Amino acid sequence: MKDTFKHQGLRNQLATLLSEKGITNKVVLTAIAKIPRHLFLDSSFEDFAYKDQAFPIVAEQTISQPYTVAFQTELLDIQPNEKVLEIGTGSGYQTAMLLELRAEVYTIERQNELFKKTKLFLPKLGYRPKLMLFGDGYKGLKEHAPYDKILVTAGAPFVPKALLGQLKIGGKLVIPVGEETQFMHVYIRTDVKKFQKQELGECKFVPMLKKKN
Ligand code: SAH
Repeated sequence: MKDTFKHQGLRNQLATLLSEKGITNKVVLTAIAKIPRHLFLDSSFEDFAYKDQAFPIVAEQTISQPYTVAFQTELLDIQPNEKVLEIGTGSGYQTAMLLELRAEVYTIERQNELFKKTKLFLPKLGYRPKLMLFGDGYKGLKEHAPYDKILVTAGAPFVPKALLGQLKIGGKLVIPVGEETQFMHVYIRTDVKKFQKQELGECKFVPMLKKKN
């Protein structure tokens, strides 16, 4: 697990690139320049770790493209100590981003192999989510609700009602919705039964899966 000046240089370049692509949140860009993404990937991809691309990880899943991670995080507008639920832990890279923003993170992954790997890996880098769970993201995590923010990092065929129901009033859900390609949706809970919905641009995620492995 080596992190060198070369890696640091590449990370700085990646942060600059993302700012050129329209990311303006300074805290997000600082986190991009800090998190050692190459350690979240299989070593055969190490040379490409700081390209703005998604890469395969175990269990046919992907580590999201850095721009996507930055974009979703910027949309969430995380404040320190906010309670955040993440659906799709994957490699843990997005989880690390949320932790860099000092959120209290609850994260769910439905692939057991990936869950076990990431649960061991994140603390090695000093990243400690409040809870990492092997489970079904469609149900959210009622025991610890309500959340200030909920983030879905897989393409959802529809917006799970459970997730909307687990938001605080004033809370925000960021979720890519669609089958083949998705559109980024943002829901703000303005009242117990009222949500303000915003639909943003097209994006591409691995599908949010229904059956547990
Ligand atoms: N945030 C991750 C992105 C991983 S890709 C990263 O930065 O690496 C999406 C992840 O969502 C995959 O790991 C996939 O296994 C997981 N996933 C898919 N369907 C899910 C579900 N129903 N509940 C929880 N996780 C799910």
